[in-house]
Amino acid sequence: MNKKIILLIGLLPILFNVQCKESPVSPPYERDPVIEIEYPDDRDYTHLVGEGATLLIKGKTVYTERILIIVDDRIIDEIITDSFKRKIEFKTIISDFGSPGIKDIIVRGIGESVINKKIQIENNQVKIQQMAMQFVGEQFSKGERIMRLLNLSNGPLAYSVRIKVPAEAHAYLSAIEEGAKFWKLFADIDYRIIPVNEQSAPDCYPNDIFGYIYIDTSFKENGSWSCPRGGGYEIVGGVIYFYAPWVFSNSFNAYVISHEMGHFLGMGHSSGHNTVMDGGDYLIHPFQALAIRIAYSKNPGDPI
Ligand SMILES: [Zn+2]
Repeated sequence: MNKKIILLIGLLPILFNVQCKESPVSPPYERDPVIEIEYPDDRDYTHLVGEGATLLIKGKTVYTERILIIVDDRIIDEIITDSFKRKIEFKTIISDFGSPGIKDIIVRGIGESVINKKIQIENNQVKIQQMAMQFVGEQFSKGERIMRLLNLSNGPLAYSVRIKVPAEAHAYLSAIEEGAKFWKLFADIDYRIIPVNEQSAPDCYPNDIFGYIYIDTSFKENGSWSCPRGGGYEIVGGVIYFYAPWVFSNSFNAYVISHEMGHFLGMGHSSGHNTVMDGGDYLIHPFQALAIRIAYSKNPGDPI
């Protein structure tokens, strides 16, 4: 064999060792920022946004030091991820969509390098107002008048919604709080959670819980339901039922509670929108959030 080739083969491990010593311990690609994001589905009109609407973006990231949300070349939110190596979850609510038109929201992860994820939006006030008003008509009305839950903090009647939680459901308190925060976030509705010590749960249509949502975990069949009670154009109280072992056995506690609380607000099931009201993601659409704000800026019985 040619002596030069033997020499080269003999040198190969040394050459590679030298190269390894000069490189970072981990290959560089292992430290490039990684971001996965989730947001309402875009099959139809999901990314339609406008004034008064909110868009929730959730995600997971690793190898990032911070995340920037950029609209029209402006940083509108910054999330410090607090951990470079660990995978973390983040979420942010966007309500500033900048100038009108079709464009991208940029979710930028910054670590050893930079990664950009883009979400196309259409900032169109006329269109989203039309969508929202249609939704108000479908979901928050009786005849041509507003039907909604009474006692809300952001409406003219100005009370928080009281959620009475009996002793047997105290284990759900944190999930109930999280569910309440969900609607606070989207609809600016305040809830007051009141742990009580009564063991007996009311019937589906109790007479004594006006102004309350009562949580009941004695529901015996697999599932959950809500039973709002109303008169005229008002929903004044009612019960949310949970099959306790079922809720405890999965991670959807707060999700299920949010879903049932959505029924109390007046929302029915929708489909194909990837939202909390159609068994999709833990989200609602910007036009739905706007619709809730419109409905709850009026009194029960007001014209739409
Ligand atoms: Zn439902």
